[in-house]
Amino acid sequence: MEQVIIIGTGCAGFTAAIYTGRANLKPLILAGAQPGGQLTTTTEVENFPGFPEGITGPELMVKMQQQAEKFGARILYEVVESIEHRKGGSFVVKTGSGLHEAKAVIVATGAAPRHLGLEGEKELIGHGLTSCATCDGAFYRDVPVCVIGGGDSACEEAAFLTRFASKVFIIHRRDELRASKIMADRVLSNEKIEVIWDSVATRYLPDEQGEMHAIALRNVKTKAERELEVKCVFVAIGHIPNSGFLGDLIERDENGYILREGGRTATKTPGLFAAGDVTDHYYRQAVTAAGQGCAAALEAERYLSDA
Ligand code: NAP
Repeated sequence: MEQVIIIGTGCAGFTAAIYTGRANLKPLILAGAQPGGQLTTTTEVENFPGFPEGITGPELMVKMQQQAEKFGARILYEVVESIEHRKGGSFVVKTGSGLHEAKAVIVATGAAPRHLGLEGEKELIGHGLTSCATCDGAFYRDVPVCVIGGGDSACEEAAFLTRFASKVFIIHRRDELRASKIMADRVLSNEKIEVIWDSVATRYLPDEQGEMHAIALRNVKTKAERELEVKCVFVAIGHIPNSGFLGDLIERDENGYILREGGRTATKTPGLFAAGDVTDHYYRQAVTAAGQGCAAALEAERYLSDA
């Protein structure tokens, strides 16, 4: 029987592991489908306190993992399928490889990138359709590409892609970016980036080999249709929280984000805590996720000492 299992290895999960590790609870971490979480798919992180020169997302996550392991955290690279809450109060966590039992569980499973739901999407992923510029940007050198979305992610991806692509289009459904001013200014002043305003993608147009060739667009104001030749489409339209495996152990909002109780990280099930992007659609920052991971660890620690 483990004292505490932490599900997820993003900023929230590793911070919870550092705190529960230092409290001598020897946390078991189940890494999940994307070890290191969303920051492993980002480039430079300029706003995480303590790194005035910036740090890359993957590097920051390696440091967090090392810090968690230093305090006794153990990591298994398993994906959780479901959790059962036993009558005595313990939890049985089922992964693809077996069962793990714990007195408390911290869920820090983050959120997965959202897609548009257009025809042929599944087949095109990896063939000119992706949600990770860091992972795939370098494959598209000296060709035109586009980013869909108008938030910070879309702007960050577009700016990063200018290192490789001949031209980067941003396709945004409104006439104003949602992104923070600093990110928006960077994009709008970059000569390699062109924003196509008030437009939505209606179809992906692959070539005969099944690779992305172009995208069909519709202007939502004028209803005009056009085709834009791009070799890759980077989708950056937000995320879906990874909370499905929790069944009815939690309450969710209408978008699937875990609802917490009493302004803390506790959920409706005693001993089950939630932190980071799986429960937060508002801040969604590395540092806020880390803060919530800390809070969940402190609450789990108190729960275990009261039990
Ligand atoms: P976001 O802020 O929710 O923006 C999503 C964008 O996608 C919006 O512009 C939205 O349009 C558009 N969109 C959503 N659904 C769409 C659809 N079906 N079709 C077309 N467009 C659609 O998401 P995000 O950019 O991923 O950012 C998430 C959070 O992370 C934010 O808090 C952001 O500040 C933060 N973040 C920070 C940094 C950084 O500081 N370095 C980097 C990345 C992200 P509308 O604008 O019309 O709603």
